[in-house]
Amino acid sequence: MPVKKRLPPSIVSINTAEKKFTVKARYVILSAGAMGSPHLLLASGLPELNPGGHNVGRYLMRHVNAIIFGIFPGVADKEQRFHKQLAIMDYYFGHPSITAPAGKLGSLQQMPTPPAGLVQKELPGPLGKLLSPGVKLLTGLLAIAEDQPQYRNHIALDPHQKDRYGLPQPLVTHHYSERDLAALNSLARQGKKVLRKAGAILHYVHHIRTFSHAVGTVRMGSDPKTSALDEFCRFRGIDNLFVVDGSFMPSAAAVNPSLTISANALRVGRYIVNG
Ligand SMILES: Cc1cc2nc3c(=O)[nH]c(=O)nc-3n(C[C@H](O)[C@H](O)[C@H](O)COP(=O)(O)OP(=O)(O)OC[C@H]3O[C@@H](n4cnc5c(N)ncnc54)[C@H](O)[C@@H]3O)c2cc1C
Repeated sequence: MPVKKRLPPSIVSINTAEKKFTVKARYVILSAGAMGSPHLLLASGLPELNPGGHNVGRYLMRHVNAIIFGIFPGVADKEQRFHKQLAIMDYYFGHPSITAPAGKLGSLQQMPTPPAGLVQKELPGPLGKLLSPGVKLLTGLLAIAEDQPQYRNHIALDPHQKDRYGLPQPLVTHHYSERDLAALNSLARQGKKVLRKAGAILHYVHHIRTFSHAVGTVRMGSDPKTSALDEFCRFRGIDNLFVVDGSFMPSAAAVNPSLTISANALRVGRYIVNG
């Protein structure tokens, strides 16, 4: 098992002027996000000092998201108020009417009528121009399904691509499981039902394929076999290094993550201050 140690009170870094400088600190808090933090850790070689180091970069989660748009016979959002006033959590832990998949599904939340300009940009060629005047007939529900933490979904270092400082570039591997996709489909079906009851006559499902909700890549836990951070987000094997951002999350939950990330940062901050 690697020896537990402190980082030396100095870090050598390279700034944009390509000049080396040293930063001294009692504690080092890494918060470069769920894609950036594992990238820097892997490039630093520090996972070798961590008994759970093989988990660094693993278990990348990003939610399975889609917007279910209802197409209404008239203007859908007459008041033009700010969106996200309504969330439906009835399906979060599953629902008696849904047998597959069993267990947690996720959340549905209100989305605004999209701006005509955005539709023109998103839809290819003349289709966007043709359809954008009709967007006022749309309003939707964002379905966020909880995706499973899978060891195979990971950030690694690309041995062939380096930046101008010699830092290997990150390589991302991610596949949703069948269960992830089934959870989204179930939620989308419920979303369509809700919109139909509200008066929608047609639906359009827009899948979101970004990594905007990336979490989980330097996960927290009580078992070094399955987690690189302890329950206070301390990097195992190095006493004064903490990773405090979306990387810590051992599961993705099925809601927008930033409040959870902030709440955890406050919790860890309090722990560090109180020793
Ligand atoms: C378009 C969009 C909309 C979103 N909407 C919502 C929402 O409505 N509600 C919600 O809860 N969440 C939302 N999210 C998700 C939310 O923004 C993220 O989950 C959250 O910001 C992640 O926090 P973090 O601290 O893990 O990382 P970040 O907020 O990404 O912070 C990481 C920081 O590290 C910096 N960094 C990375 N690498 C390096 C490096 N090598 N050196 C120096 N600095 C580095 C980055 O520039 C960044 O400033 C949205 C995300 C996007 C992209």
